[in-house]
Amino acid sequence: MAEDLLKRHSAIQGLTEAAADILIRSQATLALTGAGISVESGIPDFRSAGGLWSRYDPAEYATIDAFRANPEKVWQMLMEMDAIVGQAKPNQAHLALGELEAMRLLDCVITQNIDNLHQAGGSKNVIEYHGNSSTLSCLWCGKTYKAEEKRGETPPRCTCRNILKPDVVFFGEAIPEKAMRRSFDLASSAQALLIIGTSAVVSPVNTIPSIAKRNGAKIIEVNKERTHLTDTLTDIFLQGNAGEIMPRIVAAAKKKKEGVTSS
Ligand code: NAD
Repeated sequence: MAEDLLKRHSAIQGLTEAAADILIRSQATLALTGAGISVESGIPDFRSAGGLWSRYDPAEYATIDAFRANPEKVWQMLMEMDAIVGQAKPNQAHLALGELEAMRLLDCVITQNIDNLHQAGGSKNVIEYHGNSSTLSCLWCGKTYKAEEKRGETPPRCTCRNILKPDVVFFGEAIPEKAMRRSFDLASSAQALLIIGTSAVVSPVNTIPSIAKRNGAKIIEVNKERTHLTDTLTDIFLQGNAGEIMPRIVAAAKKKKEGVTSS
């Protein structure tokens, strides 16, 4: 038993070191994050048992057709999501990505999340592939508002009296063009890609790993569970909580970087 634990520990250590080596050598590094990175901040992903998504099926509540047909109903889910996101703080994995950027070992985070936690965790260069919940727009007249201005209105309305929609990408909506183009360009020239807490089933963001791989990028995947990428594109798979694994990668990279600069 103790021997098994020891073996597992040294295997994880070896993989962490290998991941840090990749980050140190790469001249163009990206991170792609999904809902899993924010689970330790208290925001459930689509897979978490119980909680928000067991009461609100994303297929029923997170589509643009559902919003257009019955925005009041969709706002019931959005209000709960807002309350959860409003209280959430960045966790060790968000902070680790901020640190990697400050160490010049990470160029950009492409996130599927709409929770603002990367910015709160110190990341400056963030592409929000699925938008952000901090602004609201009117689908009818195009006017936009800060979500803050409309706090307390349920559901929030435009001056034209229509119900506002948060500027997050619902299923069935187009991806903001600038986010899509920049992500494609960065993935096309990436030498390393860190994929953290995503099942990579939502399209088209899930094309980023294969675009990067075609460019020869090394793929490091951090996830509690194996995904369809693990046996196809991933070079290094670190299984576990992102909040535990990411600080270890940062610590290993720091050590190696200090070793390189002092020698
Ligand atoms: P997903 O729910 O499909 O998958 C989450 C993945 O994260 C799973 O593979 C799971 O094993 C992994 N995971 C869970 N907890 C983890 C942890 N502590 N450490 C490491 N990995 C962990 O999420 P997705 O792939 O991002 O796709 C869902 C879509 O819904 C995306 O568009 C996403 O942005 C959106 N969404 C966003 C939020 C948010 O903003 N925080 C929350 C829920 C859903």
